[in-house]
Amino acid sequence: MYLKSLVLKGFKSFADRSALTLEPGITAVVGPNGSGKSNISDAVLWVLGERNAKNLRGQAMEDVIFAGSSARKASGLAEVDLVLDNSDGTLPVDFDEVAITRRMYRNGESEYLINGTVARRMDVLDILHDSGLGTGTHSIISQGSLDSILQSKPEDRRALIEEAAGVLKHKQRKAKSERK
Ligand code: ATP
Ligand code: MG
Repeated sequence: MYLKSLVLKGFKSFADRSALTLEPGITAVVGPNGSGKSNISDAVLWVLGERNAKNLRGQAMEDVIFAGSSARKASGLAEVDLVLDNSDGTLPVDFDEVAITRRMYRNGESEYLINGTVARRMDVLDILHDSGLGTGTHSIISQGSLDSILQSKPEDRRALIEEAAGVLKHKQRKAKSERK
């Protein structure tokens, strides 16, 4: 599985439709300070279901919508489309490509689509559950969280290594079944 494309419309500094096409392997995004590099990783987090505005470096969720500039008015809608190549079947669905879309309007209304069909946030999380992607995982490490990882207690660091090794999900399942 790999990230094949990302399209941003009215998301943070990306007022116009901006499409990024990626290849398997490593992609580096370079640019001056404030040019929108971190906004791209915010877009990935957001489309995969993030609902804490602070994790997207904002105060409120509406902060993801383009706020306007001296040259153009604010957008009424933020939209991000993310396409994952699933030809190796990593994700438990019968599609070679999985397109996830999230939209949000200024009135707070929000929706998700999976391959063009309206879906719930839960459906998105379910698809990603065993993939290591998605909210709460460390597939995206922000500038700030790197410091906190380096300064974390050994127990917390252990949890991080267990997540990377794929052990954490089994531990969580075990804990859940023991509670029942
Ligand atoms: P650095 O190299 O300093 O990390 P960066 O390339 O990661 O910079 P970002 O943090 O992605 O930069 O982008 C910051 C820019 O995005 C700022 O100019 C900010 O005003 C703009 N921005 C953030 N949210 C919005 C929004 N809702 N509407 C318009 N612009 C926004
Ligand atoms: Mg940055």
